[in-house]
Amino acid sequence: MDAEKKVMAVVGVFRDVTQERAEEQQRAEFISTASHEMRTPVAAIEGYLALALNERVAKIDSKARDFLEKAHESTQHLGKLFQDLLTSARAEDGRLVNHPQLVEIGSFLEQMTESLRFAAEKKKLLMEFLVGSNGPASTATGDKVIRPLYYVSVDPDRLREVITNLFDNAVKYTESGKISIGLTGDDKVVQFFVRDTGAGIPPEDVSHLFQKFYRVDSSATRSIGGTGLGLFISRKIIELSKGRIWVESELEKGSTFYINLPRLSSQKAEALKTTEAQVTTPLVT
Ligand code: ADP
Repeated sequence: MDAEKKVMAVVGVFRDVTQERAEEQQRAEFISTASHEMRTPVAAIEGYLALALNERVAKIDSKARDFLEKAHESTQHLGKLFQDLLTSARAEDGRLVNHPQLVEIGSFLEQMTESLRFAAEKKKLLMEFLVGSNGPASTATGDKVIRPLYYVSVDPDRLREVITNLFDNAVKYTESGKISIGLTGDDKVVQFFVRDTGAGIPPEDVSHLFQKFYRVDSSATRSIGGTGLGLFISRKIIELSKGRIWVESELEKGSTFYINLPRLSSQKAEALKTTEAQVTTPLVT
C-alpha cells in the first residue's frame, strides 16, 4: 500500500470510531431522556396503587387486593428499571453526578451495616461487620476492636448505592446463613467486601456479571426479580473513584464481592479535611 492509501485507511478508521462514538452518545441520550420522562407517570401509578391498597383510604375485596398488590410490585420493578436505565446511561456518557469527598470507610461501613441489619434479619439472615483479617468488629466482652482509619476520596451517596446494591443482592440470593460486610487494607489500598452464604454464581458466569443486563439464567435465579443493571452501575461508580470491583464465588456456598479503593495517606486526609472545612464554612466578614 502506498503512503497516500495508508493515510486514507487510517483516516477511515478514525471516522468510523468517531461516528460510532456519536451514535453511542445518541443512544445513551435517548435512553436517558426516555427513562427520565417515564419515571414520572410510573411514580404516579405506583402512588395511586398504594392509595388503593391503603385500608384507611379505600375499601376493596381480597381478590382486588391480590391483583393490586401484584400490579404494585410490578410498578415498583418498572420504576427501579427506569431509575437503573437512567443511571447506567449517565454512567456511559460520563454524566453521572459524582462529588468525591473525604470518607473514613470504617465508620461509613459500620453505619451502613447497622442501617441494613433490619432488612437482613427480616429474612432471618445474620448480619455482621468484620474488621482486619476477618475478625469481628467487637470482642466477646463488647469492646470495640481498634482499627486503623481508612480514608478514601469517594462520593458517599454513590458508594452507599454500591454497598446497598451488593447487600440487596446478597439478601435476594441467600436463603439462610449470614451476610458479612468486612474491611481490611494496607498502606495503599482499602479493601472491603460484602459476603453471603447464598446460592453462589456458576464459574462460567463470573466474568460476565458486571456487564449491562447480565443475569445468571438458572432455575434458582429466574424466579427472583432484577434488572441486571445493578452490578454494571456499581462497576462504573467504583471505576469513577479509580477502584476495582470483583467477585469470588462458590456454587451453593456463597459469594464475596470485593472492592478496592486507593487509600489516602493521613497527611493527604488531613489536608483534604482542612480544604473541605474551608469550603463548607461560610466566610465571616
Ligand atoms: P439483578 O438486578 O439481576 O440482581 P445485578 O447486576 O445486581 O442485577 O446482578 C446480576 C446477576 O448477578 C444477578 O441476576 C444474579 O444472577 C447474579 N448475582 C448478583 N449478586 C449475587 C449474589 N450475591 N449471589 C448470587 N448471584 C448473584
